[in-house]
Amino acid sequence: MTQPGDARVPIRTCIGCRHRHPQTRLHRCVLDASGEISVDRRAPGRGAWLCGPECVEPARRKRAFDRAWRTDVSPEAIARLGARLAELTE
Ligand SMILES: [Zn+2]
Repeated sequence: MTQPGDARVPIRTCIGCRHRHPQTRLHRCVLDASGEISVDRRAPGRGAWLCGPECVEPARRKRAFDRAWRTDVSPEAIARLGARLAELTE
């Protein structure tokens, strides 16, 4: 197990605010084959990292999701992701 503050914890950049955090403090989002976004630390595929729901909108505005996954991500899926992150961070 890794401890908080462990220097070996990889640093990731939030695609919304571009701040860098240990990946344990970020949510890993993955796009599945149906175009739906899930928040899952272990799911296969490319991950996009976000601090929380507040970073979904800035990421959408700068098309960071499309760039992270190299495809057009549906606005509906992004909206559902925002709601999901809001639940997780309540
Ligand atoms: Zn952020």
